[in-house]
Amino acid sequence: MASVTATAFIVHEKGGPFTETAVRLSQLRDDEVLVDLRATSICHTDLAVQHGKIPMQFPVVLGHEGAGVVREVGTAVSSYKPGDHVVLSYASCAQCRACLAKKPYQCETATLQQFGGKRLDGSSAITHVQDENGSWVPTDAFSTCFFGQSSFCNPAIVREVSCVKVPETLPLEVICTLGCGFQTGAGAVFNVVRPAERNIQHVAIFGVGAVGCAAVMAASHLRNTTGSQYHIIAIDINDERLAIAKELGATFTINSRSNNLLHELKAITSNGVDAAIDCTGVSEVVADMFSILSVGGVAVQVGGPPPGTKFALDVFDLLIKCQSYVGCHQGNSYSKEFIPQMAKLYSEGTFPIEKLQKQYPVRDIGRACAEMASGKVIKPVLLW
Ligand SMILES: [Zn+2]
Ligand SMILES: [Zn+2]
Repeated sequence: MASVTATAFIVHEKGGPFTETAVRLSQLRDDEVLVDLRATSICHTDLAVQHGKIPMQFPVVLGHEGAGVVREVGTAVSSYKPGDHVVLSYASCAQCRACLAKKPYQCETATLQQFGGKRLDGSSAITHVQDENGSWVPTDAFSTCFFGQSSFCNPAIVREVSCVKVPETLPLEVICTLGCGFQTGAGAVFNVVRPAERNIQHVAIFGVGAVGCAAVMAASHLRNTTGSQYHIIAIDINDERLAIAKELGATFTINSRSNNLLHELKAITSNGVDAAIDCTGVSEVVADMFSILSVGGVAVQVGGPPPGTKFALDVFDLLIKCQSYVGCHQGNSYSKEFIPQMAKLYSEGTFPIEKLQKQYPVRDIGRACAEMASGKVIKPVLLW
């Protein structure tokens, strides 16, 4: 392809704003797809990198919940063609043992694929930026290829592994959110807790932002369809979010700022919670999660603290109570199958994702991030 010009929203330094800039894209690699984005929703991981909580080299082009229409495909791409509608998800190598076993969430190069800032061959999907004088400046130091997509840039060069084909009848500006946050929360329930396979009476979800609300929707759906009888307990410090969680199927809600959380949980469960999902990544919350976990219970770690965070666990207690502590990345989801499954549930009205969303013109990316960070909006969606 001839050199393509694109519009990117670039963060130049730790904590810096998103700056709209004209950029030039590289040639498409054999295993890449050029996507005209319709929408990109914002995930907390974008903000975590912007503010230096997850290390990446600046300047950086973030964005990892994109959705759009395929414009062009690389020579080795056979599963997609121009005109296809795609939701963009996380990247993987497609070659390691985990990837070959349809477990790309365990890919050996997972961290590098999402946060490495370059293609694996060291090159960049964005080659030049236009400076204030209109000159094109090379971007050797830039981090791009974020989650195989950097979808705060339109059009975006996307790894084929990150693309998931979706029906053209579904609104891309809603289902873009399936790419990371939603699949993470729903996958924790579908793929890890698997309530129908356990004798569960209480599922507790700590933190009901976008990921936690997805977990509530999934737990509610499986309760309604598998005949399992369990209560869903939503915990947060924001009453508005708790009200939404209740609307989505939570049986009990607890504001842990204005109540004694453990006291409330003991009153509800008596034996503790059988499955707990932490969507906060806050060490104190993880400690609370363990102190209320039942004998034989499973605790799922979904929320990500800054890399290097340590947490003290009573190992003897874990052993004697036969408890499990499971790390869960991207909902342990095989996106190419799981995202279409969730998109179908959305189209049937089971997953009302739009209730979590607020749309913004892409140029309002700064306001969108601020409103998410303050808790005013659960899931901002940028429209291109
Ligand atoms: Zn792999
Ligand atoms: Zn994310």
